[in-house]
Amino acid sequence: MAKNYYEPMHSAEHILNQTMVRMFNKGRSFSAHLEKKKSKCDYRLERDLSQSEISEIENKVNDIIKMNLDITEEIINFSEAETNFNLQKLPNNVTEKIRIIKIGDYDACPCIGQHVKNTSEIGNFKIISTGFENNILRIRFKLEENN
Ligand SMILES: [Zn+2]
Repeated sequence: MAKNYYEPMHSAEHILNQTMVRMFNKGRSFSAHLEKKKSKCDYRLERDLSQSEISEIENKVNDIIKMNLDITEEIINFSEAETNFNLQKLPNNVTEKIRIIKIGDYDACPCIGQHVKNTSEIGNFKIISTGFENNILRIRFKLEENN
C-alpha cells in the first residue's frame, strides 16, 4: 500500500460519489485525488453548488457514515460487471474478475483500492470548498476524527 494511502478517505469517496449520483444523476467523479489530509473529486456538473446543497451533501454522507454500515467486497465476472457498472476508472489490465466494493445497501462500485471494514471508521465528512471551472465541478473535502 502506498505511503499516503488512507483507507477512510477512499471509503468516503464511494459514499460521496453515490450521494452525488442520487442528488444530481450526473454520475460519479471522473477524476479524484485522495490524500489523508484533504481530497478532491471532479464531477461533470454544469454549475457550482449552493451552500444549501453543500450542507445537504455533508449531511447525507454523514448520515450514511453514522449508520455503521459494513464495507464488503464481492468478486464477479467481467461480463456481469460490464453490464451493471461503469468500468472506466479501472486499470486496463483488469479484464477477468472484477471486485465490487459494497457499502451496506447504499453503494456498489468496482474498485481495486483498499477500504475500511465499517463506515464507523471513516470519521466526520466535511466539504472544505467547491469550485466550478471549464464545466467541471470540484469538491474539496476532509475527514475529521470522531471524538
Ligand atoms: Zn475504492
